[in-house]
Amino acid sequence: MPHIRHDLYNLTREELRAHFVNWGLSPVHADRLWNYLYLQLAESFADMPELPLKVLGRLEAGWRIGTLSTAVETDSSDGFTRKYLLQLTDRARIETVLMRFTGRVTACISSQVGCAMGCVFCATGQMGYTRHLTPGEIVAQAVHVARALRPKPASAECHVIRDTSSHRLRNVVLMGMGEPLHNYDAVMQAINILRDSNGLALAGERITVSTVGVVPGILRLAEDKPPMHLAVSLHAATQEERVALVPVAKKWPLDELMDACRTYSTATGRKIFYEWTLIEGKNDSPDHARAVGRLLRGLPAQVNLIPLNPTTGYGGAPTHTEAAKKFQRVLADEFKLPSTVRQRRGIDIAAGCGQLAVAGA
Ligand code: SAH
Ligand code: SF4
Repeated sequence: MPHIRHDLYNLTREELRAHFVNWGLSPVHADRLWNYLYLQLAESFADMPELPLKVLGRLEAGWRIGTLSTAVETDSSDGFTRKYLLQLTDRARIETVLMRFTGRVTACISSQVGCAMGCVFCATGQMGYTRHLTPGEIVAQAVHVARALRPKPASAECHVIRDTSSHRLRNVVLMGMGEPLHNYDAVMQAINILRDSNGLALAGERITVSTVGVVPGILRLAEDKPPMHLAVSLHAATQEERVALVPVAKKWPLDELMDACRTYSTATGRKIFYEWTLIEGKNDSPDHARAVGRLLRGLPAQVNLIPLNPTTGYGGAPTHTEAAKKFQRVLADEFKLPSTVRQRRGIDIAAGCGQLAVAGA
């Protein structure tokens, strides 16, 4: 029988400490291991000289550090975006994207191999669903990006992450492959690990989970209130128009989705980011903007407009800049609704929103 080693990245610090206590080992060693994993971003047990041999023996017998191997790494021509094709232990592959903006770096990470939701304009949806990611596989993507940002050590002593804006990972968006709320428990466990103040220490307000509109998941978030931002992919303001773009709207209709969003905002006191992929001639007219304005009236909201990125399975065209600006003006002038147009990044390497897909995953 093959020996399956457990992935240390699956565990919160408390869980790691509990394991150490069960093994009759001091939790002080668990804390030291945690530092190696998340402050020094160690890749192997050989990089942990301060752990006693009895601890290393226990770890080597049944545990592993779930580092993901890079199958392919691609840089966009403007140098702002890097896409990693990462390989999992079962040889399935996922994509993770590192995006550089002025003064900040954001990791766009995946929650599933493929996606079951089938949105017509999304490359991940077009490839179908393979499996959920484990919490460790979600955490490992953030660690991968954190390692890539780390300055190359000039000397042996210099291997701790520097606290500068471009050398430390501060922003994570769960907007890569997959539907995070379809994999709720793993995503929430991963967020807890990412937020640990003695580890990667990502602030809740710098973590955004984007959902296609999985109503039961949004209602769970309203109960659990994890510290993070929620983005809801809307794309249409009527049930009929939405179903044509987002097939799962049949299961979770627009009125139920909006009720769930209201419940979430009331329970948490937080605004929701509503995402709107702008498709020329489909959902980008001033009247469409008015319909969004009416739909979101009274809700704490911001609209994020994303001009359509090309995918092989969908023929639509992105909205022109002028029409996108007009859309924004209607939202602002007639409804006092703030909005942004997402900066297009990594389109030349198919790393933009909705372009992530892996052949034969
Ligand atoms: N499954 C989640 C998160 C991943 S998709 C969700 O759907 O929200 C992240 C964002 O990219 C979503 O708002 C999605 O609608 C958008 N998107 C998907 N395909 C796109 C495309 N081809 N062009 C622009 N945005 C796209
Ligand atoms: Fe899945 Fe999101 Fe793509 Fe829809 S847009 S298919 S929910 S990843």
